[in-house]
Amino acid sequence: MKLQKNYLIRGKIVCETGMHIGGVSESLKIGGTDSPVIMNRMTNMPYIPGSSIKGKMRSLLELKHGTPWLMDNGEPHKCNNRDCSLCITFGRSADKEVSSGPTRLVVRDSHPTPETDEMWKKKDDILHGTEIKGENYLNRLTSMATPRFIERVPAGSAFGFEMVFSIYEPADEDRLKLVFEAMTLLEDNYLGGYGSRGSGKITFSDIELLEKISDDYKTGKDWRPYEKVSGAGSAHEILERL
Ligand SMILES: [Zn+2]
Repeated sequence: MKLQKNYLIRGKIVCETGMHIGGVSESLKIGGTDSPVIMNRMTNMPYIPGSSIKGKMRSLLELKHGTPWLMDNGEPHKCNNRDCSLCITFGRSADKEVSSGPTRLVVRDSHPTPETDEMWKKKDDILHGTEIKGENYLNRLTSMATPRFIERVPAGSAFGFEMVFSIYEPADEDRLKLVFEAMTLLEDNYLGGYGSRGSGKITFSDIELLEKISDDYKTGKDWRPYEKVSGAGSAHEILERL
């Protein structure tokens, strides 16, 4: 087994609604919110960890495909099948003995685009890229409202995303479709917390699918557009052409 080719998938994750990717609670601090957004410690601005994107994509595929990818006990999928495309694409837990080569998909952390940085700075009600959303929950018997406060990245924010998908064997070309299938499933679901209450609707936009063959790493040739999907910029358009 050796590397044949890499694909680079990049573009923007656009927040159609506010989005909450949870950080560590700071509620013990005075003025802290109950549910903060995860921050980049260098810039003090929100970011979306690659693991959050990848984990959500994987879980949506498990739910969509059902058994054997969806485990009876609802735990994340694990298996000993060396041909399992889910494990090959998204990774296998280290305690499994079977080997099917390296995990094909790498998902980088997504950071705000320069335009989004500007937009956040201009708005007074946005601090460190987040807005505070108050929610009440009602005592069912007394109707007494208890407020809580969650931080959200405001609607309209965009993050640059990047994924690399590696081809080691011919069957991997088909597994690339799983990545785009998961992206379209994610667009119709949500990223982060509070999704069933309206947060976290995202769109992948301005997607580019680029390729580099193994020899390009020897000659230094740069990424080039993957011709087969030229003109397609959304996840479903690319999936249709793959
Ligand atoms: Zn598996």
